[in-house]
Amino acid sequence: MSTLSCIFCKIIAGQAPARIVYRDELVTAFWDAHPQSPVHILVVPNQHLATLNDAASGDEQAMLGRMVLVGRQLAGEQGIDETGYRLLINTGPQAGQTVYHVHLHLLGGRPLRSGLG
Ligand code: AMP
Ligand code: ZN
Repeated sequence: MSTLSCIFCKIIAGQAPARIVYRDELVTAFWDAHPQSPVHILVVPNQHLATLNDAASGDEQAMLGRMVLVGRQLAGEQGIDETGYRLLINTGPQAGQTVYHVHLHLLGGRPLRSGLG
């Protein structure tokens, strides 16, 4: 999928609506449109990358590290860092990836099942 038709690229560009909660030079975070838990925020790279399988270079290491640390920061801001939360990246069809722009799910605010498949 090209960046022109990618819904997350449109959100990052301000061309599609979203409840954005964080933004810096590498990543943007916004509430999931169909939340699976009381806190369900997506942290996405500003640069289009279809799946984790496309991450290889040094640049992507910085971006992926930022995604995790922003997920941790938002968990604190949402008050779920002590009760517990999950950071999750679905990759490919068997993992249930539906949007092909890499995204980290921040899930919490209720007890989560073990969820390891
Ligand atoms: P995944 O199944 O891991 O690819 O997750 C994709 C997530 O993106 C789902 O939880 C969707 O609810 C969410 N999503 C899809 N479109 C939008 C949108 N326009 N704004 C916010 N979240 C979205
Ligand atoms: Zn994209």
